[in-house]
Amino acid sequence: MKNILIIAIFALTVLFSCNHRKEWVICNECNGRGKVSVKCFECDGSGYIICPYCEGCGYLGECFHCDGTGVTKCTFCNGAGGKFDEYWGRFEECFFCSGRGVTRCFFCDGLGYDICGYCNRYGKVRCTECDGEGIVFTKCVRCSGKGGMMK
Ligand SMILES: [Zn+2]
Ligand SMILES: [Zn+2]
Ligand SMILES: [Zn+2]
Ligand SMILES: [Zn+2]
Ligand SMILES: [Zn+2]
Repeated sequence: MKNILIIAIFALTVLFSCNHRKEWVICNECNGRGKVSVKCFECDGSGYIICPYCEGCGYLGECFHCDGTGVTKCTFCNGAGGKFDEYWGRFEECFFCSGRGVTRCFFCDGLGYDICGYCNRYGKVRCTECDGEGIVFTKCVRCSGKGGMMK
């Protein structure tokens, strides 16, 4: 009788510990989030990538409005820089171009190059892969993205 009782207690203990052993353990790799952050491969963690249109220089080429000179012929004096005043007997400087005959190219802002509209002269654009964060989230390998496991 006494033996049966011991066996019964033993069986219960085993059963109890069996149930107890199966519990949800939070994955310490991802802290239960199921995903881990890794450095963005596309931008090497910087959040920015080199502009694919201008290849990082910020310009697309010579400005065709001014042939790369950065200046255009003054439309006011037609490039003459002014006109000779018969009455005063002297050359009157064009006020629009200060007698230079040329004005700063409006299209390239005097740079002589076509500004890359995609990156706005920065040469870099925000990485679309990580949205400029420099990190991306991937599924945790240890818990297969579940955030933990039964143990
Ligand atoms: Zn002028
Ligand atoms: Zn220009
Ligand atoms: Zn660009
Ligand atoms: Zn990125
Ligand atoms: Zn995990």
